[in-house]
Order: sequence, then C-alpha cells, then structure tokens
Amino acid sequence: LSTFASDIEISRAQTPKPVDQLAEEIGLLPEELEAYGRSKAKVRLSLLDRLHKQPDGKYVLVAGITPTPLGEGKSTVTIGLVQALSAHLKLNSFACLRQPSQGPTFGVKGGAAGGGYAQVIPMEEFNLHLTGDIHAITAANNLVAAAIDARMLHEATQSDKALFNRLVPSVNGVRRFSPIQISRLCRLGINKIDPASLTPQEVSTFVRLDLDPSKITWQRVVDTNDRFLRKITVGQASTEKGQIRETGFDIAVASEIMAILALADSLVDMKNRLARMVVGTSRSGQPVTAEDLGVSGALAVLMKDAIKPTLMQTLEGTPVFVHAGPFANIAHGNSSVLADKLALKLVGCDGFVVTEAGFGADIGMEKFFNIKCRASGLRPNVVVLVATVRALKMHGGGPNVILFYYGFSIVGKGGCRSNLRKQIQIAQLFGVPVVVALNVFKTDTQAEIDLVCEIAKECGASNAVPCHHWSQGGRGSLELAQAVNEAASRPSHFKFLYNIEMPIVEKIRTIAQQVYGADDIELSPEAKAKIDYYNQQGYGSLPICMAKTHLSLSHMPDKKGVPTGFVLPIRDVRASIGAGFIFPLVGTMSTMPGLPTRPCFYDIDLDPVTEEITGLF
Ligand code: ADP
Repeated sequence: LSTFASDIEISRAQTPKPVDQLAEEIGLLPEELEAYGRSKAKVRLSLLDRLHKQPDGKYVLVAGITPTPLGEGKSTVTIGLVQALSAHLKLNSFACLRQPSQGPTFGVKGGAAGGGYAQVIPMEEFNLHLTGDIHAITAANNLVAAAIDARMLHEATQSDKALFNRLVPSVNGVRRFSPIQISRLCRLGINKIDPASLTPQEVSTFVRLDLDPSKITWQRVVDTNDRFLRKITVGQASTEKGQIRETGFDIAVASEIMAILALADSLVDMKNRLARMVVGTSRSGQPVTAEDLGVSGALAVLMKDAIKPTLMQTLEGTPVFVHAGPFANIAHGNSSVLADKLALKLVGCDGFVVTEAGFGADIGMEKFFNIKCRASGLRPNVVVLVATVRALKMHGGGPNVILFYYGFSIVGKGGCRSNLRKQIQIAQLFGVPVVVALNVFKTDTQAEIDLVCEIAKECGASNAVPCHHWSQGGRGSLELAQAVNEAASRPSHFKFLYNIEMPIVEKIRTIAQQVYGADDIELSPEAKAKIDYYNQQGYGSLPICMAKTHLSLSHMPDKKGVPTGFVLPIRDVRASIGAGFIFPLVGTMSTMPGLPTRPCFYDIDLDPVTEEITGLF
C-alpha cells in the first residue's frame, strides 16, 4: 500500500488471523474463549484463577504531553511498541486499550484503533459496537435512571400500605422479603425478616426512599455527542402526575458504571460496587443507593458479559485486550484493571503489557497512578511519554489546531521545552523511569527530531527516541522497544502522590499545585458544602478524579506551555461511591460533548454491495 493509504485501507488490506488461532498462540484454552465473529472474542475471568501462580510480566504505561485537539499518537505508540516488542524483539507482549466512544468517532477526533501501520484490526469492529460493552453500560445506567423517577412517582402517589403490598407481594398467600430487601432492612437497622412483624413506622421507613428531587446526582446517558441533552425536563406527560424535574444526559463513557467496569477486579467486586452507587440524597440527608432502589442485581445481570475483556490483534498479529473506555477529562481515563491483570499473567515474567492512559500525563497518568494502581495493587515499571513536534510547536506559541506548521521553528521557543519538562517531572513524581517517545510525522525535520530528543534527556527522561511506527509498523518502533526493555530492568521507586487519608480539600490542592502548577485552589460554596457532606458520610478517604480540560495544564484550554500564576476553580464536587472516587469539576468542564459544524460522520459511508465501510480513521 502507498504511504498515503488511509487507516481503514491499511486495516482492510490485512486479513486478521482467526481469533481462536490467536488465543491458542497466547496460551488460552478453548473453553476460556467466547467468540464474537471471526476476529474478536471475550475472555473468561476463570483464566485468572488458572494462572494465579504465574508471575506477572512487566507493566508499561503510555502517557503524553499536553496534546493538540487531534491527539498526539498515544494509541499508535502503544500498538507500535507491542508490535516491536513481539514481532521484532520476540518478547511476549500485550496491548491493553480502551474501547472508543461513538462520541469522538462520529464527532471530531475519529476512532481510537491507532493509525497507519500501528493499528488494531479490524478497525471498524474496534471503533463501532465491538462486543456491546458500551451498550450494556448505557442500558444499565438508564435502568437506574428509570428506577429513580418511577420510584419517586410511586412514593408520591401511594400510601405506605399500598407501597408495601406492591414491593413485598404475596405469593401463594405468603409475603416474603427478597434478599435485596432483607439487606435494606439491615442497613436501616430493622432486624426483622417476617413482613408481618413490621410496625407502621418501620413499614414507612422501609418503603419510602424519600429521594429529594433537587439532590439526585444520577443522570441518563447516551453514547453520542448530543449537546441538546445537557439539560432536559422529564415527567411532562399527564401520566407522570406533575412529577416534573430538570435533569440531563452525560456521554455514556462518563457513567459511573463505566468507571466501575474499569476498576472492578472480579464479578463479585463489580456487583458490590454497583450496589454501592449513590444516586441521590433523601430529604433527611441520607444517601440513597442502587441497592436501596432494588436494582443492583439487575445491573449485575446486564453487565455480566461486559466484565470480560475482548481479545483482538494488531496489524502484525500480536494480542490486544480492549476493555472499558472512560474519558480521561471527565472520568478516570484508563482501560480496565482486569484486562491488565489477565495480560500480565499471559505474557509471563519476561513479557510486557503496555497500557494507555488518556490525554496528557497531568490527566490520565495522574489518575492511572492515584486511582487505578490503588485499586489494582499493580505497579508499572516504565512510563512512556509521547511527544510530537506539532504539539511542541503549539506550546512554543504556534497555531493551535492547524495540522502542520511549516516555517514555524521550535528552536529556542521556551514553551515547547517547558511543557515537555513539566510532563516528565509529573511522571517522575511517581518514581517510575520515563522514556520519551517522539512520534514522528512526515513533516518533522531531522533537526527538530534531534532537538526534541535532546531536550527530553536534558529534562530528566531516562531516554528519548524517535518512533516511526505510523509509517513503518513495529520495525519503526524498535528503538523505543529497546529503550523500554532497558528502562524496565532498572529499579522503579513507585510512590503515590498523596496519602489517601488526607482531607479531600488537601488531596485536591496537592494535585492542583504539584501536578498542574496552580498557586492554589478556590472552592465554590456548592463545592465546599458537598465536601462537608461527603466527609460526614465517611467518604473522605477516597482518591480524587479531577474533571479538567486536557488541552492545558491549567483549567484554561487556551493557556499552553506551562501556565503559572493561576488559582484552580473547583465549581462542584461529586462522588462516585461505587467506582470509589471523589469527582471535582474544574472550571466549565461539561460531561456531555457537542458536535462541531462538520463532524466526522460526514465522511463515513457504507457500500451496500460490498458492505465495506469508508471514512473511518
Ligand atoms: P491519542 O491516542 O494520543 O489520542 P492517536 O494514537 O489516536 O492519538 O492518534 C491520533 C490521530 O493521529 C490518529 O488518526 C492517528 O492515525 C494519527 N497519527 C498518529 N501518529 C501519526 C503520525 N506519526 N503521522 C501521521 N498521523 C499520525
């Protein structure tokens, strides 16, 4: 193929090996595989039990400098690196990637299967639907939303007795609590299992969640950039009897259920986390959970297949797990703990698992360490920090979105040096060796490539190498693979950025000052009140998941390089108790993206005769 072939043409030119052949090559048993078509399969979690004595491989995190809106190639570097490690250095390796959301695929950025000769194939299957996990999350999330509004309607229109008779129906003349109802009674301190023995007051306490409509934190979700759903009014039909309230939609990948999928380490853990999700507060100020709504068992049923990672392959036939896909700016931005754990067992102690954290090191990597590593107990050996000349030109004062900046030299521009230095320093805060991967574009000059590698080493990177995987596949990333292999043999002195027992405000301040470079933080009155409430409820010891723009180290997307002299505004703070983090909203971050005037979907088409898809990238 010519070097000008599109990503989808390159993907289609390579026939993937059958997924059962790939599975056999990497040591899976036939009964551990659930095929979805010819080229992808879910992998059963029983594999973890079978391999639990096997030592883990080496763990590599791919992060990046502050990107342009187009992305700087973390996914392509991840795939190029595993292709180089496996196919060229003959070391077992696995890539663990997030499943892309339809939002960017049809919106601005396009898909997330990598690009050029470093892709996951078939890229159209990777980018669209995959094995249905995001649809399962959407279904589960919206079941909770429906349960909330229906419950408020029923409580508003029925007496205690009528509610009780419907919630605890009589079967063959016997009224019995279900296990989920017994669990609610215990939480309420009513230790009775005979429905007939409840006092009228206990009946009332049991049947009324008494949700405060103004304190419901659960939103509906859809996996489309649909800005008109940011604020909606529900309950306007006469059948809803005046139960009208304002609410909104988030993009599906911002759902707490997506975060739970990414952080759970077993089916039991996922089920417990789903039950713990707090959806709002009662009028008396008590948190109301998915378990209180009686919906947590049904959620586990909807999510039982989604918890299994999906096995696919790179263009060079090396294995990839695709699993979970939280955005990094409005969620924690990392693929699943389970995929990483399974892959680390499968590669064996000399092998490598390369996993990717979304956006710049200040966003996805900080959350990888402080949230994902805390949940998984895993510790990475190396961080690969992806840089591009185009992003460094932008930090040096070049135009923001235009692709190639002919005539704009990065030589001598302080901004480019400082963003790279700051992102390297952020990675070093965690005590792990950093290798800078310069993702080379065909417009980069040799002088620019040499300069960036020189700056990166001068700023403290263990090594810095140019990578040509986009145009050459794995052999274009050989130097990177060697650098990573070498860095992984050095000791890593991993440490968390903050002690989990620090007060919530101090944890937020530590991230703002040490990672973003802010002078301080400023909490809105609403944020302060929420933090006080979360402390009262005993949620103070959770890690922090900042929702902040990825386009700047600060909260101001147009401030490039390393902004200084700013105070980070915390507009609101939310809590994802099932996922297990506190979720501050910085500045004007939105949890539902919008579509531009000319979205990617203009170019996407289907040939009805050949069924070939065009226009995906
Ligand atoms: P990220 O993971 O950092 O968001 P991606 O790996 O998804 O970035 O790459 C973003 C886009 O840039 C993709 O369309 C990819 O094909 C393209 N791209 C990445 N690296 C190169 C390169 N070296 N030359 C040309 N295009 C590239």
